[in-house]
Amino acid sequence: MGQVQREVSKLLQKHGTNNPWEIVNQKGILLFFDELGDIWGYYNRFVRVPMIHINNELTEFNSRFTCAHELGHHLLHPNVNTPFLKKNTLFCVSKIEREANHFAIHLLTGGDKPYPDETKQQFLLRNGIPVDMHCFY
Ligand SMILES: [Zn+2]
Repeated sequence: MGQVQREVSKLLQKHGTNNPWEIVNQKGILLFFDELGDIWGYYNRFVRVPMIHINNELTEFNSRFTCAHELGHHLLHPNVNTPFLKKNTLFCVSKIEREANHFAIHLLTGGDKPYPDETKQQFLLRNGIPVDMHCFY
């Protein structure tokens, strides 16, 4: 099991949910919904207080994924200045972005498995993962 999967299973055990909103709330991470243009979200710390910023124009589906991705930065890259998550750079790119995407996918699928008659795409959509991210599964 890789580091990302280990973090996710610890988290599921500790918080008893794979709902990123609920976990962020339990962890006391401050959540802001801001006007961010083409940025989906970002993670930062201010005077050591962890914060997640999410674009207030995203659909519920995409903002939930963004929340899971930024939560991944909080757990995996707490001291890194993480890049903005942008729609057209979802694939990107840097190691930490790929790790945060893997984290989000493992969290949101939460150990779930596809139904026998379900395609990978249907399975991932059912678990809240945008199509652009399916290559990370
Ligand atoms: Zn990111």
